[in-house]
Amino acid sequence: MLLENKVALVTGAASGIGREIALRYAKAGAKVVIADLNLDAADRSAETIQAAGGTAMAVAMDVTDEAQVDAGVAAAVERFGALDILVSNAGIQIVHPLIDFPFDEWRKMIAIHLDGAFLTTRAAMRAMIAGGSGGSIILMGSVHSHEASPLKAPYVTAKHGLLGLMKVIAKEGAAHGIRANTICPGFVRTPLVDKQIPEQAAAFGISEDEVIKKIMLKDTVDGEFTTLADVAETALFLAAFPSNALTGQSIIVSHGWSMQ
Ligand code: NAD
Repeated sequence: MLLENKVALVTGAASGIGREIALRYAKAGAKVVIADLNLDAADRSAETIQAAGGTAMAVAMDVTDEAQVDAGVAAAVERFGALDILVSNAGIQIVHPLIDFPFDEWRKMIAIHLDGAFLTTRAAMRAMIAGGSGGSIILMGSVHSHEASPLKAPYVTAKHGLLGLMKVIAKEGAAHGIRANTICPGFVRTPLVDKQIPEQAAAFGISEDEVIKKIMLKDTVDGEFTTLADVAETALFLAAFPSNALTGQSIIVSHGWSMQ
């Protein structure tokens, strides 16, 4: 039980990668807070954990809303007594060529990915410092924290930006025993990616199968999607790591798509 007696808040944990991390943390003994825009789906994730004998609560949280973020973290601390781990994972994808990108959609992407990471980190760090036991902050980056692809200007910009935020968290958090990491997955089959396949097929005038083989998995060593388990095991490893040795580092989990 690597996370026994730890309290973890995972944003965007009603679906996809965040949900899988929440389930994995609960199996490792953590009390998990499922924070998501979609409260019904968050409740279902929490019920799945409880049905398996774990401990979880759901909170409604729009990560771009300062008051909701602060209230969600406060509710977690009130219920479970502390906060030890934050996984800032909530995210969306919108694709357009840069020259056609509507400004309101650019701002929405930057708000969810960067404002969301900042607001949840700030609230979590305040709670961790008040608790006096340090903690682990994990930001959900992407291979697009290190590489670029066409059609993804705000996503690539925001995911690169998370690396800067992580480094500041590592520097400012060290005095309080707070570690920071970014996980950078390749393509994982979640609703976020399933939505992109037909969109990219239309944008590039190719078939959906070609989007998968010639764009998404082209540079992997094995032609395989990154799995939910690949990412969740990495999130467990980082949250449970016993020293500051890895703080300030990003880890690319991409079946060799990106090697840095
Ligand atoms: P997903 O669509 O399956 O889940 C995203 C979750 O975030 C949903 O439950 C949604 O309700 C929630 N959410 C969206 N906006 C929110 C907001 N403003 N506040 C709170 N919650 C919000 O997506 P996913 O594929 O699991 O992606 C999760 C994270 O992983 C994202 O940051 C994404 O960029 C990143 N990522 C995904 C992939 C991939 O291939 N799926 C690869 C690299 C990185």
